[in-house]
Amino acid sequence: RKMRKKIVAGNWKMNLNLQEGLALAKEVNDALAADKPNCDVIICTPFIHLASVAGVLDSQLVGLGAENCADKEQGAYTGEVSAEMVKSTGAQYVILGHSERREYYNETPEILKEKVLLALKNGLKVIFCIGETLAEREANKQNEVVKAELEGSVFNLSAEEFANVIVAYEPIWAIGTGKTATAEQAEEIHAFIRSVIAEKYGNEVAENTSILYGGSAKPSNAPELFAKPNIDGGLIGGAALKCADFKGIIDAWK
Ligand code: PEP
Repeated sequence: RKMRKKIVAGNWKMNLNLQEGLALAKEVNDALAADKPNCDVIICTPFIHLASVAGVLDSQLVGLGAENCADKEQGAYTGEVSAEMVKSTGAQYVILGHSERREYYNETPEILKEKVLLALKNGLKVIFCIGETLAEREANKQNEVVKAELEGSVFNLSAEEFANVIVAYEPIWAIGTGKTATAEQAEEIHAFIRSVIAEKYGNEVAENTSILYGGSAKPSNAPELFAKPNIDGGLIGGAALKCADFKGIIDAWK
């Protein structure tokens, strides 16, 4: 089918204490060891779990990522966690630009641009989230919103750097709401996102870029979403907190 990577990534957000997180990571790892996935699987956890979770994952089977990183390299930034620190735990990925970070922690395109550069500089692959609000969708502005988000924080990268970016389209009205975009709605905007990447970096880069859908994905709707030509997998919130649900979504690639 597609040359680019098929991916299912979980985003635990601010859920699960260390013991719970370790138990879930082990359960997912064991389930995938017993029944090999047909896609890349990534678990993104709170910073404080990363090193311990790295210890229970077979890195050939399950990738590990953070949910954020600092926009500064190092120094007097109390409470912040740098990209280098994330990398040193064994993590290979970082989610940046999640709508919750943009909305509740005032992360601007300029801040995200710095974070992306630092993540890439430290050898992390970036899962970069974009997506419109309900009001923007109702005003039919979704295409211009996602294009501006790409231009604002990742289109400054060289094509070589951009090869380490995974795009996650997450309509804000579908995150944690139980409202999934229809597979047709998602495919339409994924195709648009790919065309914007092609305009910027050319067809080959665009064809090699994985574009994930996020927003109330679950085992029941994942097969229909993943069947679309421009949907290369999912970024999974709520359903990543239960092994059976997460595995059910991973199995949608079979
Ligand atoms: C997310 O926030 O990345 C997400 C997709 O959440 P949920 O699956 O819970 O809608």
